[in-house]
Amino acid sequence: MDSKLFHGIAASPGIGVGKIFLLEKEELIIVKKEIKKEDLKKEVLRFEKALNNTKKEMAENKEEMLKLLGKTHARLADAYLLILEDPILTTDIEKQILKERINAEFAIERALEKVMHAFETMEDDYFRERMNDIVEVSQKIIRHLLGKKRKGLAEMTEESIVVAHNLLPSDTIALKTDLIKGFAIDVGGKTSHTALLAQSLEIPAVVGLKEITSNVEAGQKMIVDGNQGIVIIEPNPIAIKNYRREKEIQNKEIQELIKLRDLPAQTLDGKRIELSSNIETADDIKNVLYYGSEGIGLFRTEYLFLNRSDLPSEEEQYEHYARVAKQMMPYQTLFRTLDIGGDKLTSFIDGYAQESNPFLGLRALRFCLKYPEIFKTQLRAILRASKEGNVRVMFPMVSGLDEFMKGKAILESVKEELIKEKKLMNPKIEVGVMIEVPSAAIIADLLAQKADFLSIGTNDLIQYTLAVDRVNENVASLYDPRHLSILRLIKTIVDAAHMYGKWVGICGEMASDIHFTKLLLGLGLDEFSVVPAFIPRLKKIIRSTDLKEAKKLVDEEMTSATRNLLEEALD
Ligand code: PEP
Ligand code: MG
Repeated sequence: MDSKLFHGIAASPGIGVGKIFLLEKEELIIVKKEIKKEDLKKEVLRFEKALNNTKKEMAENKEEMLKLLGKTHARLADAYLLILEDPILTTDIEKQILKERINAEFAIERALEKVMHAFETMEDDYFRERMNDIVEVSQKIIRHLLGKKRKGLAEMTEESIVVAHNLLPSDTIALKTDLIKGFAIDVGGKTSHTALLAQSLEIPAVVGLKEITSNVEAGQKMIVDGNQGIVIIEPNPIAIKNYRREKEIQNKEIQELIKLRDLPAQTLDGKRIELSSNIETADDIKNVLYYGSEGIGLFRTEYLFLNRSDLPSEEEQYEHYARVAKQMMPYQTLFRTLDIGGDKLTSFIDGYAQESNPFLGLRALRFCLKYPEIFKTQLRAILRASKEGNVRVMFPMVSGLDEFMKGKAILESVKEELIKEKKLMNPKIEVGVMIEVPSAAIIADLLAQKADFLSIGTNDLIQYTLAVDRVNENVASLYDPRHLSILRLIKTIVDAAHMYGKWVGICGEMASDIHFTKLLLGLGLDEFSVVPAFIPRLKKIIRSTDLKEAKKLVDEEMTSATRNLLEEALD
């Protein structure tokens, strides 16, 4: 059989080779049935029983998940349980059964069509994820109604690649992590449940493959390349050999590199670099410590706010943040305040309108300044956690000095509140600016005077500078970290920070690409923050870099980036 290659979204790095374990997207066949008037009550009861059984099943799943995967992933089950409380399911379906005299399965399907129609017009990834959740939950109820069981991962007996339309929280209970070599999933993006799960389990994953389940058969061979976002079905022996070799090299390399764990990240000529990690939840700390990272350089706190319909309380946030800060001592824990936009928080904010351009809308610090109570609660929790460790804080998506000063003023007011309440904290907590908007980069010298440090978020800085949506595959080829404008901006930011004696870090994905490490060192960055698994590789390059050489490389790179642009223009 010919091999076939599919492109998706690289969701969790690494290479997996194995036989396909197909979690089929069942075609649940639903027929419309007319229900006699005298049987309508019975039909409603049948629906209620299925709903209750689904709830019971989900609650049991949640317990299992808590034991197996920790709090963060168990929260996914909470999200599903919440969907089961939605009026669409609790009241609308019953009304439909009674009004239309139709069977429960058909009433659910009809309600789903309506929901999907409403979601279809939304382009946002987050909403598409939520739509997937609603579909999955509804199918669960239908399965209960039809008395059908989904083939579970528990049936896996040999090393396999899991191919599925979507992974449900309940699927993950039976996860045999030692047998799973990779995930290839139809739906989802980089922040989908499967992506997060695969990353924390360090299993390679490609998501957003659209119709991979329709193109495979159970038992076929598959390669999952989570580095490049590619899967190959029935690869030829040469491809398998090459990938196996690459995997072996990577494994060996990691083992070798891990030996550097306790050595400092220091250049040949003695500059000490702070090598930290990007994490989303406290559950990620084990990796941070394993790979020898010297702290957290980006804690994306918004993950605590996702997949739920209520806001995390100050206490919940405090406990989470304090746990991280304590475990990371004596190293830094750098909390990035809520980076969330209107597209992701409608369930908390009454009357919040869907934005047509959320990346340019009420996102991150702008959101926090508009809803100061949410911001203050988070800042109280971070400040209180600052007594437990070496805590810093920074604001995302700052676009001007005024915005930063407003954020800082709120932080100061929260400090005063805590002092009055006699709550302990570090009043001298360092406050930084994330530089991810070109306007902030251009006035970095002003921001550097008012901030304790700067941290460059290249993921957004590149997107906003080049006007290239970072998640749009149609313009992905234009997303170029090497673009002269980006190099110039990074140089401007670093020089500005150093002019005012402040340290400057980088926490976008560009920092984890080893092709850029020497260049970034040459540009003068003091801190790199990356996904923990990239730490050892980066440390090796830092330890073998001479800064004078690296500075020369910057000149060369600037010259060649200029030449490239001019040559392109001549064509
Ligand atoms: C960035 O924009 O580079 C960054 C680190 O933030 P995020 O990826 O969370 O937007
Ligand atoms: Mg960003």
